[in-house]
Amino acid sequence: MAYHIPQEELLDRQGLAQLQRRKLTAMFEVVLASNPFFRKKYGKLSPTDAVARFCELPFTTRAELQDDQTTYPPYGSNLSYPIDAYCRLHQTSGSRGSALRVLDRTVDWNWWRRCWGIIYRGAGVRREDRLVFPFSFGPFIGFWAAFESAVELGNLCLPAGGMTTAARLQYLMENSATVVCCTPTYALRMAEVAAERGIDLAGSAVRRLIVAGEPGGSIPSTRAAIEKAFGARVIDHAGMSEVGPHGFECEESPGGVHLIESEFVCEVIDPSSGAAVGDGAEGELVVTNLGRWGMPMIRYRTGDLVRLSHERCVCGRSYARAGGGILGRVDDLVFIRGNNVYPAVIEDVVRGVGGVAEFQMRVGQRGAMSELTVELEPSAGTDSNVLAEQVTSAIQDRLHFRPMVRCVERGTLPRSEMKSRRLVRDDQE
Ligand SMILES: [Zn+2]
Repeated sequence: MAYHIPQEELLDRQGLAQLQRRKLTAMFEVVLASNPFFRKKYGKLSPTDAVARFCELPFTTRAELQDDQTTYPPYGSNLSYPIDAYCRLHQTSGSRGSALRVLDRTVDWNWWRRCWGIIYRGAGVRREDRLVFPFSFGPFIGFWAAFESAVELGNLCLPAGGMTTAARLQYLMENSATVVCCTPTYALRMAEVAAERGIDLAGSAVRRLIVAGEPGGSIPSTRAAIEKAFGARVIDHAGMSEVGPHGFECEESPGGVHLIESEFVCEVIDPSSGAAVGDGAEGELVVTNLGRWGMPMIRYRTGDLVRLSHERCVCGRSYARAGGGILGRVDDLVFIRGNNVYPAVIEDVVRGVGGVAEFQMRVGQRGAMSELTVELEPSAGTDSNVLAEQVTSAIQDRLHFRPMVRCVERGTLPRSEMKSRRLVRDDQE
């Protein structure tokens, strides 16, 4: 077992709480003195009071940050330092409305790399691994920090932006990459193209895939499909442009995501009441980052649904663990025939059937009823009628309602190397 910062990663719960209080106090000393956004939000609060009354502080929301950037364009007022102090701009993918801009100083960016060091060691990435990043190095934060952290750790890093999928596969094989960092959807896309071209990915040097941006890394059948195609282990990772890279799956304990509580304060709340929920109960993850003071996030509502446990893990860390990873998004819950349906559960069912190259879920309204339509793109050699029937009955078995299922021509559904949006709401367009 390897650790990046053992003196912090191996603390017990009490030690972690002390460390968080220390880091919070130092952050509040800066933020409450010079950050216009949080000074306005919290009024005249001393750093000591802010730490003591932390759980009473109002939440920060995405809508609030968006409004702030509209009012104070282009970067908003959540800046603790003069603009000259910042050296990096990134912006969100804009997959949910307009893009949010985030700025980092050199020290904030070093903190991102530090978090990635923890993720890599937890994921079992070693000094001799060669990492490939099939990701377009544009304004979206994606794997930028992951790339630079791995360079700092001394790994050979292979940037694969601006290439076709076929060219990326060739590059991966030629350079004997052992670790791939991408979205789950893009991992499956690479597997699809490799199969078409007779490339033996399972026989390649790849031994780990670190996936992020979508829930797929913790969806059992999606994960199994990726692991089979690459003959490698999938490691799920959670991160957001707004807060930073906050979660990773350790190699010793698959099927859950640790929250890096030495660098983040993590809380879980009931999304409607805002009240804290306990271990094992599902709720919305609220995150405070502790090392990004230039544009901090304090009690930020992520919109991600999780279920936490706090027992010490076999990997030695006492970081909270989100069983099953990110279960879904608060605003992606679909209400069909009296049931809350998670898009991630539909994905698990669809990928579990096999023979599906890509799919999309459409939710529409028929009279007073919501209807789910699943559109499938069969993979090569799969009979579309048989596939549609198999998927219909699999969804009916698992979720007790009969969806509309139809097959579409190969190559018609979107495939993305960024966050995929497989849920389309026809009633809201
Ligand atoms: Zn662990």
